[in-house]
Amino acid sequence: MDILKRKKSSNRKIPNKSRIPGFGGSPMNLFTKIANAILIILFISVAYSMIFPGGDKPEQISLSQLSNDISSGLVQKVEVKGDALTITYNSTSTATSTPLLIKESKKEEGVALTQSLANYKVSEEALSKVNIDIGSDTGFSYWFMNLAPFLIPILLIGIFIWMLTRQMKGAGVQAMSFGQSKARIILPTDKKQRVTFADVAGSKEAKEELAEVVDFLKNPKKFLDIGAKIPKGILLMGAPGTGKTLLARAVAGEAGVAFFSISGSEFVEMFVGIGASRVRDLFKMAKNAAPSIIFIDEIDAVGRVRGGGMGGGNDEREQTLNQILVEMDGFEQNEKVIVMAATNRPDVLDPALLRPGRFDRRVIIDLPDRNDREAILKVHSKEKPFAEDVNLRTIAERTPGFSGADLFSLMNEGAILAAREGRQKVSQFDLIRSIEKVMMGPERKSHLLSTKEKEITAYHEAGHALVSSLLPYADPVHKISIIARGRAGGYTLHLPFEDRRLQSKKEFLDDIAVSLGGYVTEKMVFHDLTTGPSNDLQVSTALARDMVTKYGMSEKMGPIAFEGEGGRTMFGRGVNDKEYSDKINAEIDAEVYDIMNGNMKRAEKIITDHKKALNAIAKRLIETETIEREEFEKLLVANGIVPKKKEDIEHQS
Ligand code: ADP
Ligand code: ZN
Ligand code: MG
Repeated sequence: MDILKRKKSSNRKIPNKSRIPGFGGSPMNLFTKIANAILIILFISVAYSMIFPGGDKPEQISLSQLSNDISSGLVQKVEVKGDALTITYNSTSTATSTPLLIKESKKEEGVALTQSLANYKVSEEALSKVNIDIGSDTGFSYWFMNLAPFLIPILLIGIFIWMLTRQMKGAGVQAMSFGQSKARIILPTDKKQRVTFADVAGSKEAKEELAEVVDFLKNPKKFLDIGAKIPKGILLMGAPGTGKTLLARAVAGEAGVAFFSISGSEFVEMFVGIGASRVRDLFKMAKNAAPSIIFIDEIDAVGRVRGGGMGGGNDEREQTLNQILVEMDGFEQNEKVIVMAATNRPDVLDPALLRPGRFDRRVIIDLPDRNDREAILKVHSKEKPFAEDVNLRTIAERTPGFSGADLFSLMNEGAILAAREGRQKVSQFDLIRSIEKVMMGPERKSHLLSTKEKEITAYHEAGHALVSSLLPYADPVHKISIIARGRAGGYTLHLPFEDRRLQSKKEFLDDIAVSLGGYVTEKMVFHDLTTGPSNDLQVSTALARDMVTKYGMSEKMGPIAFEGEGGRTMFGRGVNDKEYSDKINAEIDAEVYDIMNGNMKRAEKIITDHKKALNAIAKRLIETETIEREEFEKLLVANGIVPKKKEDIEHQS
């Protein structure tokens, strides 16, 4: 039940991909580390008590007792180590398996054992039956046996602490290590990963800007000799998927220099203090490899406006950001290291980052226009065998608002479709089906509608389509479908004739009326409402609010932007900071209410006036489930409505 309008995506807020600082992997990591430590300590103590069983020490007997036992011929052997005596008794049972009885005693200090025994009146005869074994008391084993109980645990704990600290350091060191992902490095010798400007289609202006940087990296002397200052920092700005990362890599590939890349969110991820030290390591490495490029992807994750007052996690982010600034300021002019960064939220970046001498060169990457889209499709059609009917121009025409990444996945989906249906070549039909798949997710054929639901959905979509055909500034209908797709139950696909960068108030108003077309139709035809229009209502209400608070498109409120580009963000300013009073707030609400209601009336009038056409469209939808543009226009003509032509739209604007 969605209305699809890709062209708007450039107008909407670019989704904020960054994370809440301080809630990343670190706490989890710490917990698992502590748990591991406890486990290891437990293991050590168990192992220790097994090696040195404390419980059943041999019985201690007195020297007189020993003398008696020797006299009675019970003793087999006496081992002497220093003053300690270990006495082994004769086996009392015949079974060999029973262990010999062992007791311990002590002799008098400095007196020979035989002497002591003689003093206890042990006869020489009895003594001769005993095997007396005198071990050296200064030997290693003596000391070891005595000290081991103290030394071994200390040693184990020492090893354990050493391992732990090594692991912690490892986190910082990882940025240095090549394979371990943190800072990814692409060396100029790596031909497989090499990307050049030829791989980046369109983006002509951006490439021209960056060609200068390539020139400098290739031939720095030329610039330095003439005293030219080369920018240290270049900020690539553009919607997600417009090829920022790709362009940065292409610069390195063109210049043939090492490319160090790390994502902003990776800085914040680890223990406190690691972010800053990573920055230091990264810059050190890059300087060693100069000429080189450092690429910080999604810099908004660390580079947001500081002082948001979010507590602990924020400090870490600020330290990381400060370190980046410090490193960039520390660059010598002849350093031959260029820092590139990418963001899709330039509006939230800290002004300090944008100051001269830092990211003062900014390159904006727009969503591709029709020609660029065709070029991008061409780039990604390499290695894909096409059937004769493939026409990339048509595909480019049908995909306004698609980013490079969208087009890439469109091509890929097309190939997958062909392969799945066992064909050797990708056909035009595969690509056309992929457009919708990329836009809204796969068809959900299994999502079966009941007869009643099908009828409601058909009328709902017919309502959208009819209103949009009769309002002068609404985009023409390309396709209507009641097959569920992604999250939508059915959809009406509108595409503008041309790519547009500016949108007018009249267009917005017509858009809102079209959005409400489904709602109005359900209410009028079934005298009831479903949850179907909920998304339509959200989108159109948000648009109405933006008209009032951002674009100055309300007569009553006047030319005031009540909200900035990013809206009222939680981070930049306090949560409760309002820029306007409650009274103004109420007035905004009233104005939004008026816009919504006014457009509902307009939609209602159209539906009432063209009930016949509505019924015809809905009926056909129930039969065929999808209606393409040509067929739709025939239905309009049959009911006395003139379909929109390209010239009409151009004439108006
Ligand atoms: P971003 O960093 O701006 O989000 P990426 O550079 O990661 O976008 O682009 C994602 C993918 O989209 C690229 O790997 C590439 O396949 C494709 N792509 C984007 N823009 C272009 C372009 N201008 N030419 C060719 N391919 C592109
Ligand atoms: Zn709808
Ligand atoms: Mg990227």
